[in-house]
Amino acid sequence: MTQLEIHREALTHNVTTLTSKLAPGVRFIAVVKANAYGHGAVACIQHLQSLGVKYFAVAYTDEGIALRQAGVQDPIMVFYPEPHRFADIVTHQLSPAIYSKQTWDNVLEHIAPQTPPFPIHLKFNTGLNRIGFSPSELEWIFSESQHKNVRVVSVYSHLGGTEEAQPDAQVAQQLTVFEPILQRFKQHPHRPWFHLLNTSGVFHYPNHQLDAVRCGIGLYGYANAPAWDAQLQPVGHLTTSIVQIHHLQPGEYVGYNKGWQATTESRIATLPLGHADGIQRGFGHAKLQVWVQGQPAAVVGNICMDMLMIDVTHVACSPGDSVVLFNASHPLSEWAAAAGTIPYEVLAGLGPRVSRVWR
Ligand SMILES: *Cc1c(COP(=O)(O)O)cnc(C)c1O
Repeated sequence: MTQLEIHREALTHNVTTLTSKLAPGVRFIAVVKANAYGHGAVACIQHLQSLGVKYFAVAYTDEGIALRQAGVQDPIMVFYPEPHRFADIVTHQLSPAIYSKQTWDNVLEHIAPQTPPFPIHLKFNTGLNRIGFSPSELEWIFSESQHKNVRVVSVYSHLGGTEEAQPDAQVAQQLTVFEPILQRFKQHPHRPWFHLLNTSGVFHYPNHQLDAVRCGIGLYGYANAPAWDAQLQPVGHLTTSIVQIHHLQPGEYVGYNKGWQATTESRIATLPLGHADGIQRGFGHAKLQVWVQGQPAAVVGNICMDMLMIDVTHVACSPGDSVVLFNASHPLSEWAAAAGTIPYEVLAGLGPRVSRVWR
C-alpha cells in the first residue's frame, strides 16, 4: 500500500541537468550506494546505463557484490572497502578506494600478478577527517602505487561543505591541500583521473570538476539548496493510503503515551507506515505534514512501528484514499527540513516494505 513511485523521466532529467554542467570529457560517476539512496539500485542502474552512464560507486563491498550478482558489468567503485573484504573485492572485480597503509597491504595481498593490472582508486584526507591517506603519506603511496600489479585509476578527495556559502574556508583549505597531491600524481607513469566534487560541488564549484564528478543525491532530485533543487526533479514520490478513520470526542487520545489529545470533535486517519519503513520518531507531533485530497494534514502524536495517524478533521476523505508524503509538488527537501533532517537521511531510511514501483 505504501509505494515509492520511481519516475523514470525525472531520473533522465536529473542526469541530463547534471551532465550538462560538465566540461567536455569530465566523467560522471553515478553514486548508487544505499540502494540508490533508497530508490532501488539495480533498476536505477539499468536506466542510468541506457542514458550512457558508465561508472558507478557504492559505499561497501556487499553493495558492489550485489550489483555484480545482478549482472552489472561496468566499473564499480567501492568508497569504503572493509579491510577484511579484499578477497571478495578482487573476486568480483570491484574497484576499491585505497585509503590507508592497511588497505594498500590488503589489496596487494589478494591480487594475483595479472594483466591488466588491478584497478584501484586512492583517497586522500584533505580536511574532512573521515577517511583517506594523510597528505604526509603522499610520497610513500606515490612510489608504492607504481607497483606493476595495480593501476591507479583515480586520485580523489571529498570536500566537507560544497553547499555552504562561498567563500568557504574549509573548502578553500581542502583545495589547497589537494593541489600538491594532484601535481605529484600528474607525474605518475599512468596519469590517473582526479576528482573532488559531489552533487552540490557540481552546482557550486564548476571550476573544480577536474576529470570526474561523483553525484548521488542530485540523481534522485535534490542538491542541498532551494535554487539547485529547482533545477532537478524528485525521482521518488512516496504515497500511501488511508487504512481507517476514527471519530474522536474531545478528550480522547491518539497513539502511544497519550501522544495527542482531541480538543474538539476530530477525525483521525491511520496510515500504514512507521518506524520500520523509515519514518523516524522526530516526524511525530505535526513535524510531518502529508497531503490528502490536495490538503495538508499533520501527524498527530507519536509515530508507531508500523503506522502513524494524521488529523483529517478538515478534509473530506475515506479509507482507501491515497495520501502523498512527498512528490514533485511537495518535495522531500521541505518536508525533511521541517523535522530537522535532510533528504539523504529520509531516502536512505526507507525500508524494504515500501514497494518501489517504476512509472
Ligand atoms: C556519497 C558520496 C558522494 C555523493 O554525494 P552526494 O552529495 O550524494 O552527491 C560522493 N563522494 C563520496 C566519497 C561519497 O561517499
